[in-house]
Amino acid sequence: MQKKLLLWLLLALLLLPLTAAEIKDNTLYLEVLLSEGKSLNIKSRDSNPALLTIKEVNSPIERQIQGNSFSISFMNRDKLPFWGFLNCIEPIGIHTMDEENVIRQTIVWEDGKLRLKNERMVFEPISFGNRDEALLYASETGIPAQQIRAIPMINATVKICTGADDYYFETPLHIKSEKDIQVGGLNLGFCGEFILKAMGEKLVLTQYLSLEDYVGGVIQNEIGSSAPLEALKTQAVAARTHAIKLLLYNRHTPDGYDLCNGTHCQVYKGQYLSNANIRTAVSETAGEVLTLDGLIADATYHSSCGGKTDSSANIWRSTPLDHLMGVTCISDCDSLDLSTASGAKAWLNTSLSDPEASSWERATLNWSRQISRSKLAKNLGLKSISKIEVLKRGNSGRVILMKITGNKTVTLNSEYKIRQVFGNLPSSFFYITSFGSTISLKGKGSGHGVGMCQVGALRLARNGWQYPQILEKYYPGTTISRDWIEQ
Ligand SMILES: [Zn+2]
Ligand SMILES: [Zn+2]
Repeated sequence: MQKKLLLWLLLALLLLPLTAAEIKDNTLYLEVLLSEGKSLNIKSRDSNPALLTIKEVNSPIERQIQGNSFSISFMNRDKLPFWGFLNCIEPIGIHTMDEENVIRQTIVWEDGKLRLKNERMVFEPISFGNRDEALLYASETGIPAQQIRAIPMINATVKICTGADDYYFETPLHIKSEKDIQVGGLNLGFCGEFILKAMGEKLVLTQYLSLEDYVGGVIQNEIGSSAPLEALKTQAVAARTHAIKLLLYNRHTPDGYDLCNGTHCQVYKGQYLSNANIRTAVSETAGEVLTLDGLIADATYHSSCGGKTDSSANIWRSTPLDHLMGVTCISDCDSLDLSTASGAKAWLNTSLSDPEASSWERATLNWSRQISRSKLAKNLGLKSISKIEVLKRGNSGRVILMKITGNKTVTLNSEYKIRQVFGNLPSSFFYITSFGSTISLKGKGSGHGVGMCQVGALRLARNGWQYPQILEKYYPGTTISRDWIEQ
């Protein structure tokens, strides 16, 4: 058994905290994941070379390296231990210096304000080169396996290779690029400040940017850069609020960043598609988030409700929230109870058209899909299907409980699962129009149906609504707050 004292980790005491979320000049700065892996690649986005300015966090010296492609890999990965037993997490200040520890920052919301709390993760003074060794030790000594954590490798040496030259640095690194770079295999543009760090066995490259810049990058993917200004502003406030809510879950803290750049958090692909309208929408709503009784609101959103939005309690079987109970989005369906089979069918048979809507918006208003009965059976792990029953619909009409009978009976209890098994349906608001060797569906809506409806927000903005009114419609009872950062 390998037991090593992590003397190198004591160096961590001198370093910056692991996550770089910080508050400067009344603005929150975040680290958003761009790429992670045992090695990473950065490229120039065009044929001209990129110029990276690189600085080790602990050193005042900046170095500039130029190239069309930069491959980054570990130099000393194999020499360092990665796995340890987490003893405790404690606030900074009561720590004894003889224990090994890692500093981290946790984001909390207290007394109506967002603040950063510094904490130490204190590890037992033993560690292991791989997880299996740690697991073996745990089983022999009775330590619960869930206490095994990857210890962030803070000061690993990396090699950056441009093809022409090799450069060596101690992580973490600050990297700057004034021109768009491409990261990993994705042809997306990023410029600005980046952080490269070692987390366990992985290198992690993040973009370090203000919440406002992040929101500007999210909007273009979420609602499109050609949307009317008031819809862009609505999306900006929702995306900013949602980002804060996600930060408070601290779910990526162990990964070494604040938010990932995929649908798990919010899709962020850099600023390169940003236009003047998006910049205006961000600056004219600067710092605005939705709060409710002094707490940050849950400003979840989706593409298109199809008529009414649903309650978060129906869709996620969670505690009901007053501002996410569901509202009528298209007034023509107000008098229909879409949670009943007859109400849902009547509305699904009503053809909707909106000449001002773009083609993607219109595609969410009425859709039809087909799936072969054998394919559906296969998706459910069944040999045959004889009957499909809708047992429950939410108030948006989305099917939230469904029973499928065949050689076995399968119950599907979430709109997401239902969409998946029928072949990635836009939404679970549908009814079955024919049931033969092919199953035909007629539906409306796209996405989970909770919170703001983007198609609805676009329609209201075209009808002259201002963004505070649109937000109040989809998140009733919430307040737009500007002063929520603890200095
Ligand atoms: Zn995420
Ligand atoms: Zn809607």
